Amino acid sequence: MALIVQKYGGTSVGSVERIQAVAERVKRWHDQGNQVVVVVSAMSGETDRLVGLAKQIQERPEPRELDVLLSTGEQVTIALLSMALAARGCPARSYTGAQVHILTDSVHNKARIRDIDAARVGADLKAGRVVVVAGFQGVDESGDITTLGRGGSDTSAVAIAAALKADECQIYTDVDGVYTTDPRVEPKARKLDRITFEEMLEMASLGSKVLQIRSVEFAGKYQVPLRVLSSFGEGEGTLITFEEDEVEDAKIAGIAFSRDEAKLTILGVPDRPGVAHEILGAIAAANIEVDMIIQNVAAEEATTDFTFTVQRGDYARALEILQARADALGARQVLGDEQIVKISLVGVGMRSHAGIASRMFETLAHEGINIRMISTSEIKISVVVDERYLELGVRALHGAFGLDQNGEV
Ligand code: ADP
Ligand code: ASP
Ligand code: MG
Repeated sequence: MALIVQKYGGTSVGSVERIQAVAERVKRWHDQGNQVVVVVSAMSGETDRLVGLAKQIQERPEPRELDVLLSTGEQVTIALLSMALAARGCPARSYTGAQVHILTDSVHNKARIRDIDAARVGADLKAGRVVVVAGFQGVDESGDITTLGRGGSDTSAVAIAAALKADECQIYTDVDGVYTTDPRVEPKARKLDRITFEEMLEMASLGSKVLQIRSVEFAGKYQVPLRVLSSFGEGEGTLITFEEDEVEDAKIAGIAFSRDEAKLTILGVPDRPGVAHEILGAIAAANIEVDMIIQNVAAEEATTDFTFTVQRGDYARALEILQARADALGARQVLGDEQIVKISLVGVGMRSHAGIASRMFETLAHEGINIRMISTSEIKISVVVDERYLELGVRALHGAFGLDQNGEV
């Protein structure tokens, strides 16, 4: 007998028929003698619909109230799934995040899980019930509802799996595993049987939304065995493994990309100690995360240029802040560009193979794609390019690095 946590995403519970299909699958695992906890997302499109309603009322909705609203999506699916299980003679109970004490910090809309009280869930499991928990939501110390950021149900599932010391956390979604890149952008993408935890962490942090980044971080911290698989069919999916030598010996595991990027530049700032802090400190103080940063070598006139990227949703505010900073610093000009994307090659094999970067640049050059920014680390290389080159760039790199199905380098 195993303790399994299963998470079903929005498309997997997108209709009554889909919820019935999920109930069948859950029941099968339960009938085989496993203890099963199910974490569900809202029905597909529901969270977007709720955000849309809020925005009709407030341009920037009150974060606390937005969480009260957004958390309702998951409350619908936990109840429906529990009913579908009951209708099949499978005893089940649904719980909101607050009911099972998914304690988070108070950062509304992107809260982090601090603690989970596993006792309540454990008692139901012992009594032979399937436990159905609302993903994406928690509660802070003062009892306010919080949500975990888009895609957050993945993190709910992994956190519950960690708290219960589950044997496996299964993320059921609308693709049958983790691919070499998003199969919706490159139909020749190949499913990976295994990917190292480190690579998955990079892929997620660089934009592969198949798993929310925090879920992978959690899995790493608590060594939760994690698998991504399809709710629409059978198959082993992709195992996220902690053993590097269990993975095929490829230079590149996959290509991640992010459309959620914007670039800001401040031109002609005085080149003196403290300037970076004066610019980026103000951005950080507004809770805006900065990703890539480039500061030019100062020209003769002792001024320099400074470029950095932020998430697109933060662009308007970052621009406002930068404009104010520019005035205070006597900078020459502020420029912004929202039509950029980031494409990244990821692979632990990169450590031992030279020439990956130059092949990447050569491939992009061959397609006439101009690189605007570059950033590297031990197991990834990222470039910022114009948005219109996203598909072309991803496909060209996918082919050039031998990732296509039956592809050869
Ligand atoms: P869910 O609603 O189940 O959480 P998501 O839409 O959040 O599903 O994540 C699944 C989607 O992630 C897939 O439909 C696919 O388009 C996208 N995706 C992006 N990168 C990858 C990748 N490398 N492998 C598989 N899917 C990916
Ligand atoms: N329903 C939330 C979202 O759409 C959480 C999730 O699906 O993981 O982002
Ligand atoms: Mg998701």
